[in-house]
Amino acid sequence: MMDLFRPDMYYKSIYDINYMKLKKDGIKCLLFDLDNTIVPPHESKPNRKIHDLFDNLKEQDFKVIIMSNSPKKRLSPFKDELIIDCSAISMKPLKKKFNKILKQYKFDLSQTAIIGDQLITDVFGGNRIGITTILVNPISKKDFKITSINRKLEKIIEAKLDKRSLFKRGEYYD
Ligand SMILES: [Mg+2]
Repeated sequence: MMDLFRPDMYYKSIYDINYMKLKKDGIKCLLFDLDNTIVPPHESKPNRKIHDLFDNLKEQDFKVIIMSNSPKKRLSPFKDELIIDCSAISMKPLKKKFNKILKQYKFDLSQTAIIGDQLITDVFGGNRIGITTILVNPISKKDFKITSINRKLEKIIEAKLDKRSLFKRGEYYD
């Protein structure tokens, strides 16, 4: 059970991920969480850095999709400015939207990775369905209200993972 909370890879940020390695591993579709993965929760637009990263990933032939539990209204400036597909109200860690995306874009589990900052939504959801899960540290200490509840649970899970030598905050691996 605790294994489902352990990310397959753990990096400091989305800018530290070894995308070349993902490519070599056969990953073709990257599902990015939005809040605190791409931007802090209070930022309503993409910045230059994320523009450049996503341009680069698209050039490398990755399918890039923002998969967020936030509503459409929050996602639309990112969808429009970055010219990428978005899945709103994704209800991670539920499997439904993961399945829907895989089916819609015709990717296998082995070709897909989720990248996010939360063990309880992004990592747990991705592991439940069986795609590659990549954890990054949250960009900001600020969270939406619902997330701050998740963070408390996350602390407990992290302590359990640490006890079993499965995961330790700040010890990155891929
Ligand atoms: Mg997040």
